[in-house]
Formats: sequence, C-alpha cells, structure tokens
Amino acid sequence: MPTPKQMEKLASRPSRQPEAPVATPGPADDLPEAYWDSIIRDPRGQIRTGIPIQQRRLSEIPRHVLRVTCRRCDRIVEIQTVDAVRLYGAHAVWKDVGMKLLDDGCREQTGRLEEDGCWPSFETT
Ligand SMILES: [Zn+2]
Repeated sequence: MPTPKQMEKLASRPSRQPEAPVATPGPADDLPEAYWDSIIRDPRGQIRTGIPIQQRRLSEIPRHVLRVTCRRCDRIVEIQTVDAVRLYGAHAVWKDVGMKLLDDGCREQTGRLEEDGCWPSFETT
C-alpha cells in the first residue's frame, strides 16, 4: 500500500498517460498532414464561388498576376496570367501550373526523394 504521502504524489500527477514518444515519419510514410491541408483548404484561395483558386483553370481566374509560394523555403514565383495561359494553355489548372513553376526543386531538401520539392501555397494577390 502507498503511504498517504505517496498517494498525494500520485494524485497530483496529470491524469493522462506518460507522454508517448513522438512519431517521426519514416521514408514510407505519407506526406505530412500539413502538406495536404495546404492543398485542400487554403482559406486565402477561397473565392466567392467556393472553388479554391488553385483548382481553377487559368481562364477562370480573374487575376492579372498569379503567385505561388513555397511553404518550406519561402520561395515566391509570380507569373502573369496571360503568360501562364500562353505557356500552359487556358485550360490548365493553376495548381498544376504552380507545381511546374516550383518544379526545379526546393531549397529545403529532406534528402528523401519523394518529399523533395516545394510545398505550394497559392495566393490570390
Ligand atoms: Zn521550396
């Protein structure tokens, strides 16, 4: 039986379990959740129609300049919408175009081939 003093000590402990070891993603793991979050719901990409700008075709984006930034290395690539249309076609989806613009590799290299490359974040300004 624990002594009253030991009981007190036990009671003062946080009720949750001892901290679980932080799982470090291995090479076989999927991309981190944050990566998908950045693609699936980027609040800045939401416009009135509800279609995120990065899922629109170039012809559907009422902007003169398109900008994509990398969440990892903070690289910013801008392209005039007319240039993007000329290079990739009016029906190209901006997400695909943005990925191509960032395609020459990210400055934040993980050393793991499947994760290298920028994490695009699409801005509307
Ligand atoms: Zn990058």
